[in-house]
Amino acid sequence: MIAAMKRRKKKCRPADEGAYTCPTCGEQIVIPLDRSGGSDQQYVEDCPVCCNPNIVHVEFLEEGESPRVWADAE
Ligand SMILES: [Zn+2]
Repeated sequence: MIAAMKRRKKKCRPADEGAYTCPTCGEQIVIPLDRSGGSDQQYVEDCPVCCNPNIVHVEFLEEGESPRVWADAE
C-alpha cells in the first residue's frame, strides 16, 4: 500500500514561518514571520509554553532560504 494521504512533514515549512527554541523551557516555538518588516528583526515575545519573555531575533537570508530565527531570555 502507498501512503498517499501523508501530508508534508513539519520540516518543509513555508518561508514565512520560523521556529526558535525557548531558552527557558526548551520547547520549539513556531512563529509567523513578516519579511516586509525588514531583513533584521528583533522583538520581545512571551513564550506560549512557559510565559517567559524572550527576545526573538529574525534574520532573513536570500530568497528561497529559510530565515534564521533564535531567541534569548530577556
Ligand atoms: Zn518557554
